[in-house]
Amino acid sequence: MTYSYDDQNIFAKILRGEIPNNTVLETEHCLAFNDIEPQAPVHVLIIPKGPYVCYDHFANAASEAEIVDFTRTIGEICRLMDIGPGMGGNGYRAIANTGKDGVQEVPHFHMHILGGRDLGRMLR
Ligand code: 5GP
Repeated sequence: MTYSYDDQNIFAKILRGEIPNNTVLETEHCLAFNDIEPQAPVHVLIIPKGPYVCYDHFANAASEAEIVDFTRTIGEICRLMDIGPGMGGNGYRAIANTGKDGVQEVPHFHMHILGGRDLGRMLR
């Protein structure tokens, strides 16, 4: 595996406290915060604290504790934002843009959680 992590990316700076963020939830291994340019009434970004470039990097290299914490954090964000269908919410979309074809802007793995309105079809 060859992933090159740029520790000057904007989310690394957020994790180091060098630039502010609107935190929704912080856990041992993750930070969840509101997107600066929300595309829906709910638009939360969930990032691992570890230096992972993208989802497959995280999936292959993160510890089980990090992976469990990340997944549980997504569940907790759905609960906090009232968007989980099993909790009476109307649903959401989870997106991990990856690499060039996935048009990933920030090279620190992050999951977008979007909801609060009908998001329409993603791809036809
Ligand atoms: P990507 O295209 O990499 O999946 O999305 C990166 C996301 O990060 C975009 O939705 C963008 O609005 C968000 N973003 C970029 N810079 C900042 C920032 O400084 N603070 C926050 N909260 N979000 C940011």
